[in-house]
Amino acid sequence: MNEGESTMSVEIRIPTPLRGFTSGAAKVATSGATVGEALSELTRKYGAIQRHLFTEDGRLRNFVIVYVNDEDVRYLQREATPVKPGDVITIIPSIAGGSPGAVAYPALHRSPAPPRTATSTVQKLSPEQMRRYSRHLILPEVGLAGQRKLLASRVLLVGTGGLGSPLALYLAAAGVGTLGLVDFDTVDASNLQRQVLFGTTDVGHPKLEAAERRIRDLNPDVKVVKHDVHLSSENALDIIARYDVVVDGTDNFPTRYLVNDACVLLKKPNVYGSIYRFEGQVSVFDASRGPCYRCLYSQPPPPGLVPSCAEGGVLGLLPGLVGTLQGVEVVKLLLGKGEPLIGRLLLVDALGTTFRELKIRKDPDCVLCGPHATQKSLVDYQEFCGLGTPTILPPELEIEPEDLKSLLDQSAPITLVDVREPGEYEICRLPGSKLIPRNSLAERLGELSTSEDVVVYCKVGGRSADAVKFLQTMGFTKVRTLKGGLDAWAQRVDPSMPTY
Ligand SMILES: [Zn+2]
Repeated sequence: MNEGESTMSVEIRIPTPLRGFTSGAAKVATSGATVGEALSELTRKYGAIQRHLFTEDGRLRNFVIVYVNDEDVRYLQREATPVKPGDVITIIPSIAGGSPGAVAYPALHRSPAPPRTATSTVQKLSPEQMRRYSRHLILPEVGLAGQRKLLASRVLLVGTGGLGSPLALYLAAAGVGTLGLVDFDTVDASNLQRQVLFGTTDVGHPKLEAAERRIRDLNPDVKVVKHDVHLSSENALDIIARYDVVVDGTDNFPTRYLVNDACVLLKKPNVYGSIYRFEGQVSVFDASRGPCYRCLYSQPPPPGLVPSCAEGGVLGLLPGLVGTLQGVEVVKLLLGKGEPLIGRLLLVDALGTTFRELKIRKDPDCVLCGPHATQKSLVDYQEFCGLGTPTILPPELEIEPEDLKSLLDQSAPITLVDVREPGEYEICRLPGSKLIPRNSLAERLGELSTSEDVVVYCKVGGRSADAVKFLQTMGFTKVRTLKGGLDAWAQRVDPSMPTY
């Protein structure tokens, strides 16, 4: 297909996490008459993408959402949905990026918004507060009544990482009276590229303490409630019940589904954001007025299929953009003003500077918020996300860093395969290793021989264990994984190796 034809073809937009399978192409022109034909043309051209989109019996995987223009094909004719030249097919992947970790005031959304607890719990504004919030007070959509509402509001930020940072700063500055923060991490030097809530002097300190210091300095009106826990099925309902709006700034699927489910069960709005490399997604899930996250993604992708920000990287400014958009949604919900992003998924592409909006429908079969919902309580989210049983290899398929070191020192004939991404390889690597990212392994198998003694490694050993299992199925018998990955190597064998 040449350039001239592509303007009159059906274009498939490839999201960043899948571009590794399309030789980097962001758009692929096809000539199919239906969604199924167009996708088949894509998989004929790029074979490696097949298993990411389709099950073995040829059905679209349920964590792969496909849109034609701004409509979800599940509500059209699925793979049989007709397409015509000029149409755009978009593949929307689940992405989890964010940080480890309401109004629910339905009445406020209707106009005129009746006062909530605001007037009763917040006294008149002091002269200092009049001055601090003056740019809000002269804004008709906020005014004195709106500012009082903000001061009486309680917002929970799940995660104080890349997304949580701008959220905490702007919501505190705006005078949201109570900010609950969920995080149990300490500040790492690698956080500072995007987590603007923290400074260099905070490195090594608990995030919650550093965040509280910064917020108190920014606005002493704000009460910070620290939840120094890993949000879990045991504590989520108890914590979330105390807040009006919940903001999801997590970086992993188990917490994302947990936050969604708890919010649906407690009827709290969930302001969703996720980021990966240069792309982000924003929406507001409020099951009482629209779809929930499970209406969009009923199932998580299998572990390892979607890389995390730690593996895939993220532009430091992107969480600033996406987190700030989430913050705008929070303030609108609290004030009961404007049009919240309910039933709409905003796609942000920082590389192309484009914003696209897709409709999200309420899934009539949603197990959580549908009319025949079957799930009435929280579940085990590690297990739900397939993380209950990480790839565990028998000991004979693992090699300890010290043992590998002595073999290398003896110049044993070992092929070292690095299955990380090129950017990670540039930071640190074992001398003489061959870089074959995990997702390229199937295509580049020809570069390895089954008769070789192969040791595979990655950052911590997860991707390499998965690669070893794969290589075994491809007939490799002398293949092992470096236990603990380069992190263990740097700790136990070579402390001069940079870590990240
Ligand atoms: Zn739902």
